[in-house]
Amino acid sequence: MPGEVHPSELMWLVFPHSHFPLLSRRRASMIVNRVRLFAFLFAVLTPLWSIVDYIVFPFPLWFSLAAMRLLVSAAFALLVMYAHPSGNLATAYRAMLVLFAIPTVFFVASHEILASYQLTGISAAIGSGYAFLPFVLLAGLSIFPLTLVENLLVASPMLLAQAMPSLMHWDTLDWAPFAGAFWLLALITAVSTLAGLSQLTFMIAIVQQAIRDPITGAYSRRCGQEALELQFSLAERSGSPLAVAFIDLDHFKSVNDNYGHDAGDQVLMNMAAWMMSGMRRGDILCRWGGEEFLVIMPNTDLGQATQAINRIRQEGLGTRPDGITPLTASIGVAEWRTDRVTDWKDLVEIADQRMYLAKAAGRDRVVASGEEPQPELVVA
Ligand code: GH3
Ligand code: MG
Ligand code: MG
Repeated sequence: MPGEVHPSELMWLVFPHSHFPLLSRRRASMIVNRVRLFAFLFAVLTPLWSIVDYIVFPFPLWFSLAAMRLLVSAAFALLVMYAHPSGNLATAYRAMLVLFAIPTVFFVASHEILASYQLTGISAAIGSGYAFLPFVLLAGLSIFPLTLVENLLVASPMLLAQAMPSLMHWDTLDWAPFAGAFWLLALITAVSTLAGLSQLTFMIAIVQQAIRDPITGAYSRRCGQEALELQFSLAERSGSPLAVAFIDLDHFKSVNDNYGHDAGDQVLMNMAAWMMSGMRRGDILCRWGGEEFLVIMPNTDLGQATQAINRIRQEGLGTRPDGITPLTASIGVAEWRTDRVTDWKDLVEIADQRMYLAKAAGRDRVVASGEEPQPELVVA
């Protein structure tokens, strides 16, 4: 897939550990959703096949297979009920493991039962159909956006499970058809792996596109919301501070009115570049709305956040298109522990309200408290 993936991102196709958090979360949700789809189809179709077994197989055989099919169907139904996309990769792996383990156990068990019967004609034909299950499973691997290593980790036990029943009877094993079937299975695995990798490539491209605002290069609002949700739960769990700054540029409409929309865009672009060069590495700048930005500052208390934002302001946010008049902003800062909030939305809401207080107090300033701006609370 040259041209679709940047060379520095190639490792993302091989290992999952270096994926950025948003990609991992999206991938985890997609994997669980596909597990549920697969499990639902199997839960419905597996018991239905008992009708065919009943018609072609003798009594004890069809009965034991039907009992096994009911158990398998119940296991798939439980998977549909209990697997829910949470954005957590460990949950997604567990769901996939269960999805592939159920039919693998069924395959080994049914193979053992069928091996003790001498079937002929149509019964033999239907009986040999049971040997196709690993092919279906390995082909099914193609619907998951997995990395190369993940694909191999899932496929290897299934390849082993396919080989195991034959190898257990190796003294009577007919090598030629066994090797042929195994070779076909390995080819299907290779094609499924390629299909999975191309899904992953596509997903990386889409997530990256959704992540950044094309004009300013800041993170998009959607991405900012996900980052905030994640950072807020991390901060709550560890008790560490988390601050946000709501930034609204002052009199920005007049930039557009006087110099045109393109000049306005250029000012936004410069401003975002200035902000990003002045921020700490772990801080996240997102474009919340037209000329409104949100800075997410993990591990930063209210005092530190106010200080950092003021430092960036004093270094300058760039100028208006005349190249002389400094661009200014009204900024509200909030921090979850100091402001005693229990939800990231409330945190943004408080910062937004303080931004309005900064506007009301004359613009070009930072407000970090809910009270009417006092001289010592307002750093102009
Ligand atoms: P205030 O100091 O009260 O914030 O004044 P303001 O003019 O900045 O406020 P207002 O919200 O009335 O106007 C925001 C303007 O930002 C309106 C719109 O023309 C401009 N704007 C929003 N998004 C973009 C954009 O993507 N590009 C450009 N060039 N302008 C934008
Ligand atoms: Mg505005
Ligand atoms: Mg404004």
